This record gives sequence, C-alpha cells and structure tokens, in this order.
Amino acid sequence: MRKTMTLTGKQIGLLVMLCWVSIVQAVEPLKVGPGALKGVNVAPYLQYRLQFAESEDIRNVLASDPSQWWPVEAETANFGLNNQAHWFRLELHSENPRRVYLELSYALLNQVDVFLVQRGQVERHWLTGNNQPFSSREVEHRNYIFPLFLPAGTSSQVFLRIQTQGSLQVPLALWDPDRFWEADQLAITAHSFFAAAMLTVALLNFLLFLGIKDRLFIYYASYVLTIALAQLALRGMNYQFLWPNAPAWNEHSLVLFMGLAVASGGLFANRYLRVRERSRYLYRGSLLMIVPGAVMGGAALFLPYGILIGPMIVLCVLASILMLVTGLSFWGQGHKSGRFFTLAWAFFLVGILGTLLAKLGLLPRSNLLEYGPEFGAAVEVILLSFGITDRLNEERRLRIALQETALASAEEAGRLQAENLAREHQANVVLEENVAQRTQELQKALLELSVAHAKLQDISTLDGLTQLRNRRYFDESFRREWERATREANQLSVIMLDADHFKQINDSHGHLAGDDCLKQLARVLEGHVKRPADTLARFGGEEFVMVLPGTDPHGVLRLAENIRLDVEAHPVNHDGQVIPLTVSVGVAYCGDVRSFKSEDLLALADKALYEAKASGRNRVVVRELI
Ligand code: GH3
Ligand code: MG
Ligand code: MG
Repeated sequence: MRKTMTLTGKQIGLLVMLCWVSIVQAVEPLKVGPGALKGVNVAPYLQYRLQFAESEDIRNVLASDPSQWWPVEAETANFGLNNQAHWFRLELHSENPRRVYLELSYALLNQVDVFLVQRGQVERHWLTGNNQPFSSREVEHRNYIFPLFLPAGTSSQVFLRIQTQGSLQVPLALWDPDRFWEADQLAITAHSFFAAAMLTVALLNFLLFLGIKDRLFIYYASYVLTIALAQLALRGMNYQFLWPNAPAWNEHSLVLFMGLAVASGGLFANRYLRVRERSRYLYRGSLLMIVPGAVMGGAALFLPYGILIGPMIVLCVLASILMLVTGLSFWGQGHKSGRFFTLAWAFFLVGILGTLLAKLGLLPRSNLLEYGPEFGAAVEVILLSFGITDRLNEERRLRIALQETALASAEEAGRLQAENLAREHQANVVLEENVAQRTQELQKALLELSVAHAKLQDISTLDGLTQLRNRRYFDESFRREWERATREANQLSVIMLDADHFKQINDSHGHLAGDDCLKQLARVLEGHVKRPADTLARFGGEEFVMVLPGTDPHGVLRLAENIRLDVEAHPVNHDGQVIPLTVSVGVAYCGDVRSFKSEDLLALADKALYEAKASGRNRVVVRELI
C-alpha cells in the first residue's frame, strides 16, 4: 500500500500516476461462483479514487472516467490517518441469483455511504458510519453489514464513499449470510470472553486495592479496564452494546481510553518495577508518557477526535517502546519483575504486530491473527497478574522473614531480661539473708550491750563495801520519789542513821573490823526494807539513809525503833571478837510535800540525827516538816 498519509490529495494522485501508470490494469469483476462464501477478501477486486473535486453526486461518480480509478493492491485497503473522502468501487457478477453480505469490518469509520448500482440504476443506498446512531444500521452489528441481492447474469456495482477523522481502513469481505452468522458466533464469543476476562481481572485488582490499599492494584485495574475498553471500542463492541445512541461520545471515548491506558499503564509500570528508585532517566521518560496520556485523555472530552487520534497513536507507540525498554533494562539488571513485565509487553506487542502484518498481507490471515490484540492483551494481563502475585509473595516472604527476626530478637531480649531478673532476685535473696544475719548479730550485740550497760549501771549505783545502793543512786531515787509525792500530794519520810562511836571501833579493832561492822550493819538494815518503793542507801562513811514514801509517822517511827533495837541486839562478830554496835537515828516526816523542797526534808532528818547524838546516842528522834 502506498504510504502517503501526510500528502495532499493532489500529490497522492500525482505520485500514483508517476509510479504506477505502467502497471495499471483494469480490475476484473468478482465472479461469485456457486460455492460457499466465507469472508472472501474483496481487496483484489477493489478500485479506489480520491474525493471528487466537483460534485460528489452518485451520477457524477458513475459517469467518471474508469482510468481515474486505481486498484487496491494490498491485502486490506489502508490509507492510514487520512481525513479525505475516498471512493471505492467493487463489481460483482453472479450466474445465479444470490443474497450476500458485504462486510466492512472496521468500526471506527465516521461516514460510510454505500450505493448498490444495478443496470445503471442506484438500487440501494445506505448512509451509515459511527457518527450515525447505531439504529441507522440495517443489520445490527458492530461492523457495517450491507445485504446485497445479486440478480442472475447481471453485474452489480458497489460504490463506497468513506470519510473519517481517524485511520482510513477499508477491510471488505463477502459472505453468505448463514456463514457470516456462524463465524460471528465465534467472534462474539471471543470478544465476550476477552471482555469478561479483562473485567474480572480489573475487578479483582480493584478489590485487592480496597483490601491491601496498595496503589499498584488500582493502577493495574485502571490499565486493564481502559486497555480492554479501547480494544472493544476498536472492534465496535462498545458502540453496539454500551452506548448505541451516543455516537459523539463513542468517538471521543476511544482517545480517552487510550490516554488513560497510557497513563495508568505508566503509573503501574513505575510502581511495579520501582522505576523511580532504580532509574531516574526511565522515570522521567515515563512521566513524559503519563502526563500527556492523562492530559490528552481528558482533552478528548472537548477536542475533536481527528486532532487527537494522531498524536495519541504516536504516544502509544512511544509508550510501548519505553515500556519494553524499561522492562528489558530491569530484566537485564536481574530483577524478576522486569522479566514478567517484558514478557507481558512482548506478548501484547506481538499480538498487535501480528494482526497488523496479517492486514498488510505479510502474514497469512488466521483466526488467531484476527484477534491478535485481544489475545496479546489477555496473555499480557495474565502474565502481569502472575508478576504481581509473585511480587506479593516475595514481599510476604520478606515480611515473614522480618517478623521472624523481630520475634527472635524479642525472645532473646525476653530471655536476657528474665536472666537479669533471676540474677537480681538471687542477689536480693542473698542481700536479705545477709541483712537478716547482720540484723540478728546487731540485735545480739545490742542486747549484750544493753545487758552490759544495765550491769554497768547497776555497778555504778552500788556501794563497793556494803553492796547497798550508793549516794548517787540515793540522790536520784530521792528526787524521783519527791516528785511523785508532789504529784500525788503524798506523805514522804526519810530515816538517817549513824553508827555510834565508830572512830573508837576503828581505833580499837582496826579498819578491817570497822569495814566488817559496816557490812553486817548493812545486812541488818536490808532486813528491814520490805516494800519495793522504799530505798536504802549508804549515805557516806558510817551513815545510812532510807526514803519511805506513803508511810505514816507511826510506821516510820516503829521501823526506826525496830532497826535501832535489832542493831543493838546483834553485836558484830569479827574473827572471834564480839564488837557491840549501836546506831543513832534521825527521822524526818512530811505529810504533804507540795509546799517544801526536798533538801528541807533531808536537812530535817540530819537535824533529828544530830539531836539523837546530842541526847546520848542509841536512840531515835522524830521530826515533822511543817
Ligand atoms: P559519834 O558517835 O559522835 O558518831 O562518834 P564517831 O566516832 O562515830 O564519830 P566520827 O564521825 O568522828 O567518826 C567516824 C569515824 O568512822 C571516822 C572514820 O574513821 C570512821 N569511818 C568512816 N567510814 C569508815 C569505813 O568505811 N571503814 C572504817 N573502818 N571506818 C570508817
Ligand atoms: Mg558519822
Ligand atoms: Mg558515828
């Protein structure tokens, strides 16, 4: 096919004449035999010419010079992006009357005018194309189907005037209606299966996104959905089944889906392959696809299809190359995801390429090649799904490994902590034992100390010779008893006694005898102190003192007298010598101590003693403090 899509109509005409004039031959009419017609490609019998400069009335077309029509010397008439009106002419001849379908199997044609001319008359005229509502079609089908009746023995001419904003492709085939519908079952099944599979994958990934919240899934769901919608739009499926009454939207939607497919595919690739982290250049390159894809997809809603479709196709081709390069680059770097990605993309591109080559006649036509893009996209989607699953698995393995490490660390930490606690506990037990032991020892020492102290106290208050309490003890005891008597308003008595003529005893019997006398005198005195509150002490030298709380004057006098008599009755026996001993006794009594001082009572007792001495000794003198 001549690649003249960027040239004007006149230039094309000129080129065609220059290059092909020598081999131009009259195209034979297509002789329809009695055999079955199963999609017979009519391209070899097809002639075409450009828009008529003058009137485009069919009569004018019929009258045109046959030398101005050119054969379509290709498997499929394909003029690329070309918005000029093209006329096509096909002559059919049948020996038997026959009903046939002429199928124009490219859905994205804006305006299709078809004339059936028999015996120089226009028998039928169809005006269709995807800028007409779907209901304008005689046969409700995603492609354009023209039912022709071929009378026996006469030739029928079919003229097609086609003008479109996008790619001008005119794949025409002839069918027996029955064979057509048979074959269509397979096609519908294939398209439906493709649509269902893609929708399932998209839905699944959308649900995964809701569950896992990883944007990877929403990108992938969008990609799968938009690539499927774009593919179905190319096949005319969307128009027939989704929005048959919205031709404008139908046309705009294709660029929208393509743009969104490029953008979401790029976003998916970036996330799936971690392009941003791995290659700054590839990442920037991807943004140069994603941003225009999204912008042009959005613009498709406002701008004419014809303006956008060209750049969009260029963008798709560039994006496909970039995807392949990105995938290969990461595969080369040993990333597993790169391998999945490359293979998936390769399948998709091979599918598209296969169909393209078959259309150009470079590959034999086959069902598989007919559905190349669908097949490629399905395999791509499945491979990428495997890739995603693999990545999820890898992440899960990584997470589990991390969790195990964390768990092991936590266990180790727990073990160490338990060990520390045990050690601490052990140390505490030992410490407690030590403390208890030390406390016990300390308590024992304290007890010993207090016993010693008590002993010392005791010793310090005893008189060494007589073993009676000493003067110091007496002073303390007397002060305490005086205070108590003061608090209780009680009576208190003091007895003071002195050995008579003791100097003489010492002089005549010796000091040791004197000491012995004092000791025995002490024992006698002790025998008279019965009440625990009474205190007996050696006052000094051969003088003794007693404090008697709560004792009436008679009781005190009787006690003093008893002591005097007892001492007199028991002379001291010292080394066989019998030493007679008497004592003089001074008694001081106070009925209520509160208005006196303790010294007063003591002084009174001393005075009474002095009086006893003065009045002849060996007697008791009682005085009351008033
Ligand atoms: P009086 O009847 O007037 O009390 O005559 P006295 O000799 O007892 O009086 P004085 O107070 O003059 O003498 C007391 C003597 O007692 C003097 C002293 O040598 C003696 N004496 C005092 N304490 C002790 C002692 O602990 N042992 C001995 N052997 N004699 C003592
Ligand atoms: Mg004396
Ligand atoms: Mg004396």
